[in-house]
Amino acid sequence: MQNSTAAAKRPGGQRRFYFIRMQIIFLQFILLVAALYAVQKGISYHPRKAELTVADESMFEAADHLEQQPECALIWQSDLTGEEGRKLMADVLSQMKVPYIECPAEGIRAEDFEGCKSVVLAVSDLASMGETAMDLMDWLENGGHLMLAVMPSKGGFLDMISDKLGIVGMSDTASVVRKLRFPREFMIGDQVFPIQITDPYESSIDVLLDSTCEVYIESDDEAAIPLVWRRRTGKGTVSVSNLGFMDKIYRGFYGSVYSLLGDGFAWPVINGSTFYIDDFPAPVPQGEGEYITRDYNMNARDFMTQIWWPDIVELGEKYKIPFTGLVIEQYSDDVKQPLPANEDVSRFHYFGKSLLDMGGEIGFHGYNHMPLVLENFDYYGEYDEYTPWASMGDMEASITELNRFCASLFPNEQFQVYVPPSNILSDEGRRMLKEKYPQIKVIASTYMPDTAAYAQEFEVAEDGMIETPRVISGYIMSDFVYLSALSELTFRYVNTHFQHPDDVLDEDRGADLGWAEMYSRLSTYVERLYTAVPDIRNLTGIELAAAVQRYDELEVAQDIADGVMHIRLGGFVDEAFLLIRFNDCSPAAAEGGRIEKIQDGLWLLEADSPEIRITLE
Ligand SMILES: [Zn+2]
Repeated sequence: MQNSTAAAKRPGGQRRFYFIRMQIIFLQFILLVAALYAVQKGISYHPRKAELTVADESMFEAADHLEQQPECALIWQSDLTGEEGRKLMADVLSQMKVPYIECPAEGIRAEDFEGCKSVVLAVSDLASMGETAMDLMDWLENGGHLMLAVMPSKGGFLDMISDKLGIVGMSDTASVVRKLRFPREFMIGDQVFPIQITDPYESSIDVLLDSTCEVYIESDDEAAIPLVWRRRTGKGTVSVSNLGFMDKIYRGFYGSVYSLLGDGFAWPVINGSTFYIDDFPAPVPQGEGEYITRDYNMNARDFMTQIWWPDIVELGEKYKIPFTGLVIEQYSDDVKQPLPANEDVSRFHYFGKSLLDMGGEIGFHGYNHMPLVLENFDYYGEYDEYTPWASMGDMEASITELNRFCASLFPNEQFQVYVPPSNILSDEGRRMLKEKYPQIKVIASTYMPDTAAYAQEFEVAEDGMIETPRVISGYIMSDFVYLSALSELTFRYVNTHFQHPDDVLDEDRGADLGWAEMYSRLSTYVERLYTAVPDIRNLTGIELAAAVQRYDELEVAQDIADGVMHIRLGGFVDEAFLLIRFNDCSPAAAEGGRIEKIQDGLWLLEADSPEIRITLE
């Protein structure tokens, strides 16, 4: 517009000006044609060398395995708290690869735990253990290691043993804890992530501790409530959780409390960070673009190309994130054949190539956004917009078409990652993927359970499918996101996040904040993440799956004696990562792997042999 005005003021230059403008337009046209041609011919993104590849299951079967005796007794009381504590600690211990036995508190005898190195109590009334509670104290004094996963109630037995726990006084009732404070480095990210409790309730007993206790977490109040502490008692150690929260997302907290026992403790971890972009590439998302119009005065299509994607690319390049994009071929409601192909492929070419150029990966999300479920699936009254597939055959045909579509666009890619639309997947859908599409080696859904959601663990399922749940998501980056990230970074040294381009159209996902704020929140999280763990491996979806495979197959035996920590690994194929907490000592040198300090007391071991020897100073 400015140019034409200028030209209008100088009538003599007008013809010359239009001629130059025509030349520029023609040149732009030639460049565009050339670019489109290059893209169509697949000339060519620079695929990244895979960090790690999925190993054949036979390799794990052929590896040496350990014969292990139980090292830990998990004693639980048969009431609501005890049951919750038992479930939580069973998950924590099994995933940290601690061989353990479960014992009901009622009727427990000293010989049930005397041979164990550690005992975990999920017992709120110590009297339920009868006289054996006193035997447990003797065992502790003589070098046992005891973790209290729940705070026992006041009075009776607790009064008799409170000095062994370092408790000088305690309140009758529980208090509400809203924010956590870490007086010393304890969990990964604790010095950079703000940690607030999402659903606070009367969770924790106000206790007064003696000076021999080391407090690792306390409430962020003027009169702070100790929430996690450790103490030497006789020849043994005690660690106590007064957190009171027992959801799945707190596993990393409880695992950390367990790791405070004894001189040191090693547990296997994944060492991977993966960022997924669901519905990408995909057609232009449907939905109201009112916030995009408000802030950028453009439609969703232009916004995605000119603002959203360049911002995401910039973030990815800054931190070397190889995004994993999950393709949706089209947003139709078709659940029955014929399933027409999407002929409008230019967006897919453009974004897909750009993603692959960054070292990213492309996986499957769906032919359309209808989850792979049949008529019998229970949506629990949610998701009115979804129609179940008409038959197994139609469901299968949708993936066949998606596969054809993706293979024609990206002939060099393998499409090994599947992300279920809305994180929903039926048993039939999962079986179909496994049986008919052996190229799909991974399902990446969600970590936290939710009514109809396909919730997962980081594991290799019995049928060989690798499960890689996404722990956090979106752009709002709530308190819960930071809490979850902290917990899983320490528990498994893993970060998994997914976002959607159409989050910017959905108020529930933060659209009213505006993209600038949404992007700033994601960027702040990413910056904090890489401040906490600058050396975590950046992996694509399939590489993360390969790392989960090594992690899940691992068995760990460990002991510390005469200034040396010995670790023996079962199921070791080619690499293993372990976090090790050293209490009252630190490592000087390692054989069989490299060891690197993450923060005070916490080290990352990269094992290149199943036998590791760490000398302590
Ligand atoms: Zn989606």
